[in-house]
Amino acid sequence: MITRFAPSPTGPLHLGHAYSAMLAQDMALENGGDFFLRIEDIDQTRSRPNWETQIYDDLKWLGIWWPTPVMRQSERTDIYYKSLLSMWKRNYIFACSCTRRDVLSAVAAPQEGGLILTSPDGLIYPGTCRACSAYDETDPLPTNTALRLYMERAVEDFAEYRTGGGVFSFQETGKGPNGETGLIEFSSADVLKNIGDIVLSRRDMGTSYHLSVVIDDAAQNITHVVRGQDLFEATKIHVILQRLLGLPTPTYYHHKLIRDENGKRLAKRDDARAISKYRADGCSPDDIRKMVGL
Ligand code: GLU
Repeated sequence: MITRFAPSPTGPLHLGHAYSAMLAQDMALENGGDFFLRIEDIDQTRSRPNWETQIYDDLKWLGIWWPTPVMRQSERTDIYYKSLLSMWKRNYIFACSCTRRDVLSAVAAPQEGGLILTSPDGLIYPGTCRACSAYDETDPLPTNTALRLYMERAVEDFAEYRTGGGVFSFQETGKGPNGETGLIEFSSADVLKNIGDIVLSRRDMGTSYHLSVVIDDAAQNITHVVRGQDLFEATKIHVILQRLLGLPTPTYYHHKLIRDENGKRLAKRDDARAISKYRADGCSPDDIRKMVGL
């Protein structure tokens, strides 16, 4: 078993991160496996070296250790580019110049007062730029623009789709937010309706969370992805990308979210629950374990 913890250095680690990291390492150790750390710093406008240093420091204090050198996503742009290029050559990608506001007004217009559907990638893309992307496979991959996955075209190429509907799946050994566990199946119709044309590469970033997480879980041979239930639905996107890129689908263990006393899940800005705060207050790593129920 190989597990990982993949924080973004955009703020302090809090109790929820401690739970995720300790659980992932415990699972690996109990199964005679390995545990890796990965720094997810693709958003260079929000990532800070001091947060990265603090992550190492807090994790070591918690009793967590990991092989070095640590994989850092900001150093892997070339790898992400290769995957984007392979999907571009297969005509699965289109350039998108819509702002978030453009997308919002396009999806809101026909359904005034109605429900605006969102996916784990944000608003479901209404397809605005899909039609204007004249594609020639000899064209270079567009830069300085967001790149989206042409989901319908991608899904149509799967054998399942051609033989009637199509069912994708992954194994859940933890629980989704509604208790989902075991074999989780979803259809291509579900993907088209509820996920749509996700962003594969953000402008100025050269990648996106979904693309890099999938590539790097495979690069580190992660067999069990241990992470919060808030990412359960995003796993469907990851399964599709794994299929498109010929990567294995690991087993997933989505764990409970650590909440504050009002039942609200902890956020990065929740400095009151920062590990560094508990350390400063004289807590021990065992106290942290008890607090999160480990
Ligand atoms: N970097 C992501 C986060 O901090 C990790 C997501 C994942 O574990 O897949 O939320």
